[in-house]
Amino acid sequence: MIKKIDHIGIAVNNISEQLVYYRDILGLPFVGEEEVQNQQVKVAMFQAGEIRIELLEATSETSPIAKFIAKKGEGIHHIAYHSDNIQNDLDNAKEQRIRLINETPQQGADNKKIAFMHPKSTFGVLTELCSEE
Ligand code: ZN
Repeated sequence: MIKKIDHIGIAVNNISEQLVYYRDILGLPFVGEEEVQNQQVKVAMFQAGEIRIELLEATSETSPIAKFIAKKGEGIHHIAYHSDNIQNDLDNAKEQRIRLINETPQQGADNKKIAFMHPKSTFGVLTELCSEE
């Protein structure tokens, strides 16, 4: 079951160029930075109340983030909802004819399990489900 928004993913060309904006101008606490190899991204996280802002920088030209930026430019990439049972929610969405990018949860940033639903069947919003396990 979906509980709340967990984070908002933003595609960026260069994380270090945007640190000043999020950390110093908006004043959001910087949580940390890590590389998620299976997603070919570097991730920087900021805390905004209960929600995190996740900056995503491609680590290779074949990264989904590189493709996204080539097509649409920098900006909001996805909305992530916190789920208490990703597999259940995925199965349920699939039953309702939602196209899934990941049929099973993958390893994501922040030691979370994540799965994406395709924006073509979620009204243009790339949607991620995530959970702690
Ligand atoms: Zn995310």
